[in-house]
Amino acid sequence: MSASKRDIYLVIGGSGFLGRHIVEALLARGDIVSVFDIVQRYHDVPFYSGDISEEGQVGDALRKSGATCIIHTASPPHGMDDPALYWKVNVDGTKAVIAAAVANSVPKLVYTSSAGVVFHGDNLIDIDERLLPPAKAMDAYNESKAKAERMVLEANGEGGLYTVALRPAGLFGPGDRQLIAGLYEVYENNQTHFQIGDNTNLFDWTYITNAAHAHLLAADRLRPYTPEEIAKVKEDLHIALPY
Ligand code: NAD
Repeated sequence: MSASKRDIYLVIGGSGFLGRHIVEALLARGDIVSVFDIVQRYHDVPFYSGDISEEGQVGDALRKSGATCIIHTASPPHGMDDPALYWKVNVDGTKAVIAAAVANSVPKLVYTSSAGVVFHGDNLIDIDERLLPPAKAMDAYNESKAKAERMVLEANGEGGLYTVALRPAGLFGPGDRQLIAGLYEVYENNQTHFQIGDNTNLFDWTYITNAAHAHLLAADRLRPYTPEEIAKVKEDLHIALPY
């Protein structure tokens, strides 16, 4: 990509674990990046304080930052007993992000979904992005993430906006505030003296810098595809795209 064609990025949730790694990866390759979040943790890039469920606040940040690519990683963490908050941030908030992007002619939106959106309680082996979420989600977090993912993908092509969603598995690595803290809490509470299953259970994990890199690759590849190109991809891969 030539220098004149480079995107300008707004990382929503850029104060968080994944969002911060995305910011660092963008800075490392010389890109212009700003952060939109309800909390500020870093001071090396322009910061816009706001809540994604407020479309006007997202719109302001888009105009001031001059963003041409939104990377939307914001969400309350998994495991909270507050379905209304998940709905407000992940569903209403993502709807507001899409509306603000279209209203401000932003051409690219990359959304961080979750591998959890397709989990139905039984083993999932050798699955890929064609798998749809189950009719009944495992919990409010996954229900709201699945709904947001669908809205983002259905917005593809709306008013010149092109979208993509990624489904990372459990994230680990430097800067994590959830995973190791949660494991340590289990240990502290003496909850380690039992076993579920026969000790052959497997779980997918994604190292945080790999997840961040995937977001940059997705952003770089996002562009309008012609109907012919889409038909060719479907034919080559023998796939029926879900949305
Ligand atoms: P995180 O909690 O570290 O970061 C989320 C950020 O979003 C925080 O900085 C928070 O302040 C911000 N935020 C929350 N509500 C907001 C709002 N209303 N408006 C603006 N900003 C808001 O979480 P993370 O682990 O970095 O996860 C990032 C994304 O990845 C989330 O969308 C999550 O669903 C997804 N994900 C995470 C994991 C994981 O294992 N951590 C796994 C799969 C998917």
